[in-house]
Amino acid sequence: MLPVVSIVGRPNVGKSTLFNRLIGARKAIVDDEYGVTRDRHYGQSDWNGRNFTIIDTGGYLPDESDKITAGVREQVHIAMSESDVIMFVVDVEAGITSLDQSVANLLRQQDKPVLLVANKADNEERKLNATEFYALGFGDLFAISSVNGTGTGELLDRLVELLPEMPDEEEIETPRLAIIGRPNVGKSSFVNALLNDERSIVTDIPGTTRDSINSRLIYNEKEYILVDTAGLRKKKNVKENIEFYSTVRTERAIRECDVAILLVDAMQGFESQDKHILHMADELNKGIVLVLNKWDLVPEKTTNLLKEFEEYVYDRIPTKRWIPIVSMSATNRKRIHRVIDVADNVLEERKRLVPTPVFNDFLQRILKERPLPIKRGVRLKIKYATQVKSNPPVFKFFMNMPSELPANYRRFIENKIREEYGFTGVPITLTFKQK
Ligand code: GDP
Ligand code: GDP
Repeated sequence: MLPVVSIVGRPNVGKSTLFNRLIGARKAIVDDEYGVTRDRHYGQSDWNGRNFTIIDTGGYLPDESDKITAGVREQVHIAMSESDVIMFVVDVEAGITSLDQSVANLLRQQDKPVLLVANKADNEERKLNATEFYALGFGDLFAISSVNGTGTGELLDRLVELLPEMPDEEEIETPRLAIIGRPNVGKSSFVNALLNDERSIVTDIPGTTRDSINSRLIYNEKEYILVDTAGLRKKKNVKENIEFYSTVRTERAIRECDVAILLVDAMQGFESQDKHILHMADELNKGIVLVLNKWDLVPEKTTNLLKEFEEYVYDRIPTKRWIPIVSMSATNRKRIHRVIDVADNVLEERKRLVPTPVFNDFLQRILKERPLPIKRGVRLKIKYATQVKSNPPVFKFFMNMPSELPANYRRFIENKIREEYGFTGVPITLTFKQK
């Protein structure tokens, strides 16, 4: 669970430029790998060995000028509730504006640490001008240039000093289940159903510097941390940016979890946003459980109905048929424990480690079942393979000409691994190396 740093400020002061500089080359890599939103406003960075998450709140401002003030204020509220440290960016070229004043007033009323960043201090003269911003009333002032990078080192030195201590060992080891899904699918109802059930104990986890969205669940003598993304609508001061707010929380929850429990509304079906969330969880190698909630509303429940629903979903995600699907009714508390049982099973599957000799016997069998093709006049050969790690599982294959291995053969191997060993709900990574 990484500390969160938010970048706030009025438009055009250079928030996005600073964000991009801080996440550096990672941004490009992340976008490529995950193929998710182009305009990413959520990234990871590190400095002096400390990792942290950065949120650029700027990209979501409304266009109409009369809404900008409200939009900026709302972003500040989001930053205050979502982050551990706030970077408040101002523009030395423009000097102090009334909107800067109004942001400063909001930030002074709360107790999250604030770093005042006087941006566009590209030269010595502008650096000197930056001192005028002391008038905003913050002790920590950093004159930087996001464009050429000057001053960012000192800014980051101070930033990492302000990051909260990492959670203790025990908290790191407790498995984390993220409850995610679009608004109104029943996330709060599910968490509440668990909370109000005598078979489980849920307690808030106090002592984190940002508003706690996590709770501890003890069920079946096992302990979990529920990473809860619900409750967004209950926040006051956040109207325009619900989308952004829920995207940020969902992404953070997925990154921080071991198993992502995606709820969908059985009556509404499976939509592109759900697919996108599953894709992200898959790419981040998280365990996945798909829950069809509000099953009580589904009329005429024949014995085959769940199978039909499953086929409907799998048709939309044909390469992810390994994701377990559970039907549930959060409000009637039907199968809420089944969901936790299935998630627990996924946690176990994720830890599976296949011994190398066993895996190579298996490999010889499947190579016989479907011989590798000939490419550029040479028969492809996989000589040897090993599971290099578990939790999440990664397999490494040593072969001639790995770049020639057809995608369908790769899928064949993955399917066979799943047939043989399960890995239900667990993304598996296959790597092929030249040997
Ligand atoms: P945002 O709206 O706060 O996210 O601002 P942007 O990052 O989009 O930047 C607004 C404009 O300021 C762009 O034209 C940037 O190139 C420019 N800018 C950002 N940082 C600097 C800087 O350090 N120096 C100068 N001279 N211009 C900058
Ligand atoms: P969230 O936005 O995902 O946290 O969704 P909520 O838990 O707030 O639920 C949204 C609405 O769906 C509420 O009116 C709930 O009572 C209703 N709801 C949630 N789960 C179920 C369910 O299993 N069955 C039915 N019939 N309604 C549900």
